[in-house]
Amino acid sequence: MLNRYITNFIVTKNSKKYDAIVIGSGISGMFAALNIDKKKKILLISKSNLSNNNSNLAQGGVAVTIKGKNIQDHVDDTLKAGSFHNELEVVKATIEDSNEIVDLLLEYNVPFDKEESGNLLFTKEGGHSSRRIIHARDKTGEIIIEYLIAELAKRDNIAVYDNCFAIDILTNKNVASGLVIDNDSKKEVILSNNIVLATGGIGNLFINSTNSDISNGDGIAMAKRAGAELYDMEFVQFHPTALNIAGTNKFLISEAVRGEGGILYNSQNERFMEKIHPLKDLAPRDVVSKAIYMEYKKGNEVYLDVRHLDNEYIKDRFPKIYNHCYENNIDITKELIPVAPVQHYFMGGIKTDLSAKTTVENLYAVGECARTGLHGANRLASNSLLEGAVFGLRAAKHINEKEISKDKINNYEYKNELVCDESDYELLEKKIKNIMSENAFIIRKENELLESSEAINKLINDIAKYNCDTRKKCEVINMVTVSSEIIESAYSRKESLGSHNIENV
Ligand SMILES: Cc1cc2nc3c(=O)[nH]c(=O)nc-3n(C[C@H](O)[C@H](O)[C@H](O)COP(=O)(O)OP(=O)(O)OC[C@H]3O[C@@H](n4cnc5c(N)ncnc54)[C@H](O)[C@@H]3O)c2cc1C
Repeated sequence: MLNRYITNFIVTKNSKKYDAIVIGSGISGMFAALNIDKKKKILLISKSNLSNNNSNLAQGGVAVTIKGKNIQDHVDDTLKAGSFHNELEVVKATIEDSNEIVDLLLEYNVPFDKEESGNLLFTKEGGHSSRRIIHARDKTGEIIIEYLIAELAKRDNIAVYDNCFAIDILTNKNVASGLVIDNDSKKEVILSNNIVLATGGIGNLFINSTNSDISNGDGIAMAKRAGAELYDMEFVQFHPTALNIAGTNKFLISEAVRGEGGILYNSQNERFMEKIHPLKDLAPRDVVSKAIYMEYKKGNEVYLDVRHLDNEYIKDRFPKIYNHCYENNIDITKELIPVAPVQHYFMGGIKTDLSAKTTVENLYAVGECARTGLHGANRLASNSLLEGAVFGLRAAKHINEKEISKDKINNYEYKNELVCDESDYELLEKKIKNIMSENAFIIRKENELLESSEAINKLINDIAKYNCDTRKKCEVINMVTVSSEIIESAYSRKESLGSHNIENV
C-alpha cells in the first residue's frame, strides 16, 4: 500500500495562494487557463518546457462539426469506434461544443489549412464516415500549441512555472486545497480551491510509445492518492502505424496518411485488411492494430505504401512525416514505410462529469488524464484534441461560476516515517515497462495479467516505504501506481471489448 502522500511538506501562512492552479500546458491545460475569468489569479505549471507534450505531437487534426452539420454522423462514428462503451450524453455534448472550439481556435489565430476560397479544409481518418478533421498540414498540434503559448503570453493574470513538477494534491475530507511541487529542486506548497489536472497520457509505461517523455500518468496517480475515482483503466489504445526502424524512437505515421489513400501490405504483398473489416485500411485503430500484430505473429512484416500518390502532394501535405522518414533513409515517395503498432493513447483515467469535476471536490481533470466517457473502449481518431479543448473550456466555465473563497490558512506540517533509499529507480522503471509491454499489450492473457499483478504489487510494497525526495522517484511511484490500476482493470474485464483483447488460457 502506498502512503497518502509520497513526500513530506509544510503549509505556512506565507504559502502562495491562487484562484486556480492548472497542471499541464497541453491543449486541455491551455484551454482551461485561457478561459478562466481574466480577473482570477491563475498559476499554470508544466513539468518540462511549455511545448513538450503530446498535444504538440498531434499530426492528424481536430475532428469537428461546423455549424451543427452532421452531428449525428460524428456521434455514430464515435460510438462505433468506442464499441458503444461510451456515454452518449458526453459524446453528444462534446461534438455539439466543437463549433465553439473552432471559433476559439480561429480567435487565437491558429492557421488551419484552407481552400483558396478561405473555407477550412477537412481530412478523414480511420472510423470517420466523412471528412471532418481540420488540420495544419501534419503539424496540427505543434501549430495549435505555438498559438496558445502566444495567447498565454498576453495574459497578465496567468503566472507560469515551467520545468516544475507537481508531486501531490493536498486534500482535507475529500476537498482539494493545494499542491506540493518540486520547483527547481525546492519543495513548495501552493494553495488553491480550484485545481485542474491536465497532465496527459501514460506512454512511458510501455517500452514503445508515440508519446512525449512527459507521459508517466503523474496526474492519474496523484488523483488516486487524493481519493479520486478512476475508471476504464483497461482501455489503452495502440496505434497501428508507428515507423518501425530498430533503434529509433517510435515516430507516428499519422492515420491521415491512410485517410489520404495510403495502403497497408504485408511482406507477402497482400492487402490483408481487405479480409478483416469492410472499412479495410481505414477500420478503427483497435482493429488495424490487432491485424498488424497478428501479421507479425505469423512472421510477416507490415508496410504502408503511398508511392501511388502524387509526390509533390505527399511532401506538401505530410512534410513532418516525409522529412522524418527521409532522415531515416526512407524516401516515402519511392519506398515502402515499415510500420508496427505501439502504445499511443489512454481512454481510461480520472473519472469526471460534464463539467470536468472529479469525485474530489475542487479537483478537475481534463484531456488525456481524464476519463470523460467520450471515447468508450477505443478512441475515434482526432477526437482527443477536441476532448481536451472542450473539457478545458468546461472546467474553466465551472470555475468562473464559483465565488473566490477567502479561506484562512493554518500552518500545517505533514511528516511520515518514510526513509530515503538509493534503489536503482532506472532499473525499477525498466521492470515496469517490461511487465506492461509483455503482458498488457494488444493481446492480454488472463494468467499473464495475474502474474503481472503480483509482480507490480511486489514493486509497490518494495518502494512504498521510501520518501520521494527526487523527481525520478516520484515518477516511478506514479508509473507503478497507474500500471497496477491498468493490470487490475484488465484482469477484471473477462471479455474482449474495443482496445482490450483478452485470451483466457
Ligand atoms: C504522436 C501523437 C499524435 C497524435 N495525433 C493526434 C491527432 O491528430 N488528433 C488528436 O485529436 N489527437 C492526437 N493525439 C492525441 C492527443 O495529442 C493527446 O491526447 C492530447 O494532446 C492530450 O492533451 P493533454 O492536454 O491532455 O496532454 P498533453 O498535451 O500531453 O500535456 C500534458 C501536460 O502535463 C504536464 N505534466 C504532466 N505531469 C506533470 C507533473 N507531474 N507536473 C507538472 N506538469 C505535468 C506536461 O508537462 C504537459 O505540459 C496524438 C498523440 C500523439 C502522441
